[in-house]
Amino acid sequence: MDLERYWSRVRILANPWVLYRITRGMFRALVLRKNTLRVMYLMATFACQARCTMCSVAKFRRSGTDSLTPADYESIADQGARMGAIAVTILGGEPLLMDELEEVVRVFASRHYFVSVVTNGFGLDERRARSLKEAGLGSVHFGLESLSEEENDALRGPGQCRAVKEAIVVCRDAGLRVGICTVFTPGATERAVELADYCKEHGLMINLPTRAAVGAAEGAEHATADDYEELLRVLKEHPRAAVDWGFSYFLRPRCPAGKEKIAITCYGDVLGCSLNHISFGNVRDEPLETIWKRVGKFSAFSRQTDRCLAAFDDEHVRRYLDPIAQFDESPVHYTDHPAIAPEDEPDLFQS
Ligand code: SF4
Repeated sequence: MDLERYWSRVRILANPWVLYRITRGMFRALVLRKNTLRVMYLMATFACQARCTMCSVAKFRRSGTDSLTPADYESIADQGARMGAIAVTILGGEPLLMDELEEVVRVFASRHYFVSVVTNGFGLDERRARSLKEAGLGSVHFGLESLSEEENDALRGPGQCRAVKEAIVVCRDAGLRVGICTVFTPGATERAVELADYCKEHGLMINLPTRAAVGAAEGAEHATADDYEELLRVLKEHPRAAVDWGFSYFLRPRCPAGKEKIAITCYGDVLGCSLNHISFGNVRDEPLETIWKRVGKFSAFSRQTDRCLAAFDDEHVRRYLDPIAQFDESPVHYTDHPAIAPEDEPDLFQS
């Protein structure tokens, strides 16, 4: 591990609240064999200026439904912290389009969360980077598919590659940890390798979520076992590359959906993660912990798997994700999902 990452982890662990939550999570995993909420993804707006051909939340935007307020986020932050969460990732849509982004960052940072934002980079100038840093933001990840403007912008929209390259400099100058988020696309490993090499050379982190056949990618080819092996190879060769199933409190690779992670939309729906478009309740109607317990009763999430369920588990994808294509909007409430029935999931339906 390089020195910058080492000190960054030391700084995070030096916070007694964070250290307590991590120790508790590991004790519950390794001794009690129980799951503990570790990270929350907040899909804080679905407004966006980019045109990503693989946008996983293309069917989430609704008109006429109010978004969560900073007061709602305070409640989520308090409840999540009591349940053990240590990190929050704010994504979208495009989170920089939210007027209250700094306020939301402040809410979570003041409760000792490590706060990250995933952005397309448009409009992230020096002033915004400084104001986010002052609010308590820890890191920024930029969606980027290629270093070639032509190739990237064909996938994400005009001007996006240049916007990211400029914003990386601005964010580093503001003292933020910076990384790239590249969709690992079956059949296009060379793009991920190119960006992982670039990150290695420039001291940037890189996250490699695998493309799932959801949202704008509905109907796309499923990832295969060969794609999984390719991804493992990229991870092995690039120590700065990460996937969210690469770490767990159980100290082994494990898909965290509904086990250590949840995603919450700006309308309050709670999902196992941002690629599993099934809602298990709404934070406006019930306490987060009640919904969290329900998520954990879904048989697909209680099963152990060492890789991304939404991308690499063919049975899961065919049974639970492909049927979502027949709905005009996502997420789909679990009681409306054609493959989730009370006779198969008695615990889930009784909760
Ligand atoms: S299915 Fe699991 S590994 Fe894949 S994105 Fe969701 S939480 Fe992450």
